[in-house]
Amino acid sequence: MNYDHSCFHCTKDQRLQALMLKIAELRISTLYLFREQTYRGRCLLSFNGHKGELYELSNEEQTLYMHDLAQAAHAVQKACNPDNINYGAYSDKLPHLHFHIVPKYKNEYSWGSTFDMSPDNKAWLSDGEYDQLIKSIKDNL
Ligand SMILES: [Zn+2]
Repeated sequence: MNYDHSCFHCTKDQRLQALMLKIAELRISTLYLFREQTYRGRCLLSFNGHKGELYELSNEEQTLYMHDLAQAAHAVQKACNPDNINYGAYSDKLPHLHFHIVPKYKNEYSWGSTFDMSPDNKAWLSDGEYDQLIKSIKDNL
């Protein structure tokens, strides 16, 4: 498995923990809950291995990753009941494959537009609320 000591998706150090909380290990990736919760249920799916682009994965890895992505999105749908789910993979400054899974709600923030990676008015939850949301998504995986 490729590993980069300077990449927080690989090291899973304090930089990662400041951004997100682990929900579960899936087939070939790890699902996290984003701490910033403007979009209720926002998650991130990080590939287990330091690869930058989808095309760097073998066909089997691509298939497993897409299964994980679909499973994770379905769990978010069941847990949070959004009106749509957006997906984003950008990684300009962090070449470790990951997808943002962003539930969108009609008439709420940026509905009908691209989701905002870093909204101005950040929504933080209490530890208990994070725990509850993680449990709810995990139970639906
Ligand atoms: Zn990495």
